[in-house]
Amino acid sequence: MERADAPPQSGAKSPTCVVCGKSLRQERAVPWAAVRPAISALIGRDHPQWSEGSWICPEDLETYRRRSLRELLSDANGDLGPLEQEVLDSLRTGDIVTAAPDITFDERATFGDRMADRVAAFGGSWTFILSFSLVCGLWMMLNVTGWLFKPYDAYPFILLNLVLSTLAAIQAPIIMMSQRRQEARDRMRAQNDYQVNLKAELEVRQLHEKIDHQLSQQSTRLERLERLQEKLIERLTP
Ligand SMILES: [Zn+2]
Repeated sequence: MERADAPPQSGAKSPTCVVCGKSLRQERAVPWAAVRPAISALIGRDHPQWSEGSWICPEDLETYRRRSLRELLSDANGDLGPLEQEVLDSLRTGDIVTAAPDITFDERATFGDRMADRVAAFGGSWTFILSFSLVCGLWMMLNVTGWLFKPYDAYPFILLNLVLSTLAAIQAPIIMMSQRRQEARDRMRAQNDYQVNLKAELEVRQLHEKIDHQLSQQSTRLERLERLQEKLIERLTP
């Protein structure tokens, strides 16, 4: 809420909102001088009578504040992307932009997704490579020497070839599935980062404008006080 001391108004007329025309209690009325220039310009576009000495109600001021942010974020066609919309909503409600993306992402994973992740993780480990080499080596050795049983897959190991190619055929799509999920997770993280950055930028921008506005208001008030002081001194000196 941005409020500054109202410029002294002549007459005891109760202030009316320039947008909705309702008459306002003194403590709820926001004076023209307390509205930031960017928002002031926006109100002036719709209501040409908006000038020094005008008032606006907090609700309408909030509407215009949201509109100024919306205009800042919308593209050339005036459209707002879903990500930007979420950021604006969170600014309005004061909520955090999104929950931690990893948690949201894992909550949505189906049984198949989790299975693919696990298989891909195992398929890309040294455990898999070593145990697989061991199995292949044993298979070849036992089928060549015939130590434990009568060889069922003699050189050149046609059955082993079939097993290996089947395994490769199954593993490839599982890895692709897992990669796709990883990409989706990265995309989600990037979107979340973008939204957090955008929100921070908007908040900082608003703070800047508020401080600039406060400073300019303060100097105007000081000047007014100085003038008043000078008048008093003039009156006191005989
Ligand atoms: Zn109003």
